[in-house]
Amino acid sequence: MDSTITESRPAGFWSRLALWKKILIGMGLGMLAGVILGPDAELLKPIGTLFLNAIKMLIVPLVFCSLVTGVTSMQDTRKLGRIGLKSLALYLGTTAVAISIGLGMGTLFAPGTGVNMVAAGSAPSASDAPTLVETLLNMIPTNPVDALATGNILQIIVFALGLGIALNLCGEKAKPAVQIFESLAEAMYKLTELVMKLAPYGVFGLMAWVAGTYGIGILLPLIKVIAVVYIGCVIHVVVFYSGLISSLGRLNPVRYLKGVINPAAVAFTTTSSAGTLPASIKAAREEFGVSKGVSSFVLPLGATINMDGTALYQGVCALFIAQAFGIDLAFSDYLLIVMTATLASIGTAGVPGAGLIMLSLVLTTVGLPLEGLAIIAGIDRILDMARTTVNVCGDLMVSVLVGKSESELDESVYNRAHSAAKVS
Ligand code: ASP
Repeated sequence: MDSTITESRPAGFWSRLALWKKILIGMGLGMLAGVILGPDAELLKPIGTLFLNAIKMLIVPLVFCSLVTGVTSMQDTRKLGRIGLKSLALYLGTTAVAISIGLGMGTLFAPGTGVNMVAAGSAPSASDAPTLVETLLNMIPTNPVDALATGNILQIIVFALGLGIALNLCGEKAKPAVQIFESLAEAMYKLTELVMKLAPYGVFGLMAWVAGTYGIGILLPLIKVIAVVYIGCVIHVVVFYSGLISSLGRLNPVRYLKGVINPAAVAFTTTSSAGTLPASIKAAREEFGVSKGVSSFVLPLGATINMDGTALYQGVCALFIAQAFGIDLAFSDYLLIVMTATLASIGTAGVPGAGLIMLSLVLTTVGLPLEGLAIIAGIDRILDMARTTVNVCGDLMVSVLVGKSESELDESVYNRAHSAAKVS
C-alpha cells in the first residue's frame, strides 16, 4: 500500500532533501534576496521572527524537563558529579584556548590599525554587565516560578538540578513525578522536531533581513575585524574541536563536522545558543548517539556557560579597540583579558547581543575606552552569527567527548550516520 502511494505520488525534490541541506539553501537564497531587495528585505523578517518565536517557546520547558530527566536518569550521584566536573573543565579550558586564538589573530592581523575610531552612537556601559559575584549569587532563584516565567536559564538550571537530585533521593515515592517529567520531555523533543521543520524558511527570512540591512557599504571599513573573527572561529572549530574529537575522543572528526551542520545553521541565523538548544539536543542524540542522560545535562549547561566564540570575539575586539586608539597592551593585560573573558563567558546569556555587553566588562577591566563599543555595535550582529555558531559547536563537541568517556555514546549511531551522510 505504502509503496503504491510512493510510486504514484513520488515525493518532490524539496521534501526528499535532508533538513540541513534545506537550511543551507534557505540561507543562500535569503542572502540573495537581501542583496537584491536591500532595506526592503525587512519585509521578509516576519518569516524569521515566526521561526524565532516558535523556537523561543521551546526553551524554558525543554531545558527544565530535559535537565530534570537528565539528572533522574543518572541515579548514580558520583557519575553525575563526574560528568559535571568533566563538562566544566572542558568548557572553561576550551574557552581559554578560544580567547588565546582571538588574541593571537588580533595581534597577527592587527585589524584596528588605520581605523579612525569615532565615538558615534551610544555604547553599552560597563555597569550593564553583572560582576562575577553578582552572577554567582544570582544563580540561586529565590522564586523558581519567577525564574521559569522570566526565562532565567542559569536559575532554571540550578533549580532543575536540585529538583532532579531530590527526586533521586526520594526513590520509589518520586516515581510518578519522574514519569511525568520523562513524558513531558519526550513531548518537548517531538515539538522541537516539528518546529525544526520551519527552520529553512525562518533562516531564509532572517538572512534576507541581515543581508538587506547591512549592505556591503557598512561592512567595508570593518571588513578586517569581521574577517579576523570569522577566520578565528573557523580555526577553532575545524582545527581545535576536530583535533579534540580525534585525539581525546578517538572519533572521526569529519563526522563531527557534518553532524553539527543543522544546529550550526540555526545558531548562525538566530544568534542565540539558548534558542539553538532544541536543535543541538536533537543533533547530539540522532547524529552522534549521545545518550539522553548526558545530552540533557551537558547541553543546557553548555548553552548557558560555554561561550568559546564569544571569548574569541572579545579577544579580537579588545585588541582591535586598543589598536584603533593607539593603546599598547602589556603581557599582563593579555593575561587579564584571558581571565576576564573566560569568567565573563559564564555570565553571558545565550541570547543575541549578550557578548557585546560582556565586552564592556572586559574593556573596563583592562582599562580600554568604552567608546570602541559603538563601532563594534554597528557590526555586532554579523560577528554574533559567527560566535554563536562556535558556542554551539563547542557545546556539542563537549557532549560527544563526555558521552564517549562515560560510555554514554552509541558509536554505531555516530559511525552509521557517517556512512549515511557520505551516501547522501
Ligand atoms: N549570541 C551569543 C550566544 O547566544 C552570545 C553572545 O552574544 O556572544 O551564544
